[in-house]
Amino acid sequence: MGTVVRSPPSTPAEYFRIVSPTLRIPSPGTGISVPLGILACQRDPFLKKIETIVIACTVSQPPSTPAGKKTKKAVSAPTLPNEPILEVILHDTVIFPEGGGQPTDTGVITTSDGKTWSVLQAKRNGGHAVHYVMVKEGDLESALSVFTPGSTVTAALGQDDYDRRYDHMSMHTSQHLLSALLETRLNLPTLSWSLTNAPSPCYIEVPRGMTVEEIRLIQSEANRLVFEGRQVHTEVEELDRDKKATPVVIGGRSVGKGLPSDYTGGVNRVVVIDGVDRNPCCGTHLPTIHNLQLFLLPHTDTMSRSNTTSARLYFLSGPRLINYLTSAHDLLTSTASILSCGAPLVPERVSQVVDERKKSEKRVTDLELELAKRISTELSSEATVGSGNDGYIFRKHLHRTDDGGNVLGFLSAISVAFSEQMAHSQIPYLLLFTSTPSAQITGSTTVVMVVGSDDKEVKTIGEYLKSQLGVKGGGKGLKWSGKYTGVWKEKNEGERVNHVLKNV
Ligand SMILES: [Zn+2]
Repeated sequence: MGTVVRSPPSTPAEYFRIVSPTLRIPSPGTGISVPLGILACQRDPFLKKIETIVIACTVSQPPSTPAGKKTKKAVSAPTLPNEPILEVILHDTVIFPEGGGQPTDTGVITTSDGKTWSVLQAKRNGGHAVHYVMVKEGDLESALSVFTPGSTVTAALGQDDYDRRYDHMSMHTSQHLLSALLETRLNLPTLSWSLTNAPSPCYIEVPRGMTVEEIRLIQSEANRLVFEGRQVHTEVEELDRDKKATPVVIGGRSVGKGLPSDYTGGVNRVVVIDGVDRNPCCGTHLPTIHNLQLFLLPHTDTMSRSNTTSARLYFLSGPRLINYLTSAHDLLTSTASILSCGAPLVPERVSQVVDERKKSEKRVTDLELELAKRISTELSSEATVGSGNDGYIFRKHLHRTDDGGNVLGFLSAISVAFSEQMAHSQIPYLLLFTSTPSAQITGSTTVVMVVGSDDKEVKTIGEYLKSQLGVKGGGKGLKWSGKYTGVWKEKNEGERVNHVLKNV
């Protein structure tokens, strides 16, 4: 058996089409950098490396962000470190500067001395791409010497840079396909879109929510075109700002949307999906949609702003779709294994578990109430034993060990039941409840509650707990409650409160 050697994907020659008789790509010798729209990454999206020359290089001045004014972006460019940064303009590049909703690439530049430099981001400045090159502390002088205008360098995408870019291309080309279908099939214009950070689904914002049927229709329509393997190409010409843009309509989708106002230097670029869409865009697009199977999340999220409502349609394709499937599958199988059932039974088993939990929570509440009443009955019968003597006050410290989630609620239930039972007896009382967890560590919490028939006595005990034992809490009238942090020992802390309780 022979081995099949697969060549890396290559961009067909017809991908990049100059549709003007006069537009030329400036040659390296001219000292002019290739303008945005016809950069190497835009002529050949699969190109990973290019040898080129430095046109300009300056030390970057960090932008002063006006206080309190933060730009909100769904996709953040890699943050720039505090080390020096060089802003480098090359004659040509494979490192895509952000634009068209597509985030910047990251990459590397190799200089003539063999050193490699990280490109943290690339940005559009006017009509040109500026590379933000990281320089290590103390390397600034040597960096400036190898980035002098005219020096030969190689700009490249490393494997991670390329994988990231491939994901961006997949999502961006998918967005063009989706936007076109939403407009032509459902008359839904794309208000905006976001190429979110992987692995989140990207989204298109449309003016209204969509039904499951509508989403399914768009998905199957898109995948029909994907399976046909429609070709994608780009058309470029000089940007003539005075020329009125005549809207071209293909399948009902109008073209001629605005370019950024500071976009100068002059190339107009249209991305065409064969027979489906023509759209001005500077993004790097795949030459075909043949492996962009689309998955649309079967619901839209409604976004309400001051006076408008719109909805977000989330989508996945390419490597991001595979990642999504993998993690969704992992989640499902791990949940199924916890529930000891097959994956299809997970929803049913989860709803059973939730149901059972609700029932047992109710049972615990009922039993706690019953127990609280029993405890208070015992306490009130204890209280009546010594009653009748002059100056008698029923004083009691009740300590409990309880790992329950609502200890304070349980102690309250006892105190409420107790004060109801004591209401008609006229016996004065002062009760102190403490409740600690079964295993205590230095960070453990002991809940403390004081109830009595005299608010002054309750307050006195509360003040003592605060000042002498460091209990944090407070109260009003006949009730005081608080929390003690640390290990509560009945022999120590318990004895101290017993002593006070007897002598108030
Ligand atoms: Zn685009």
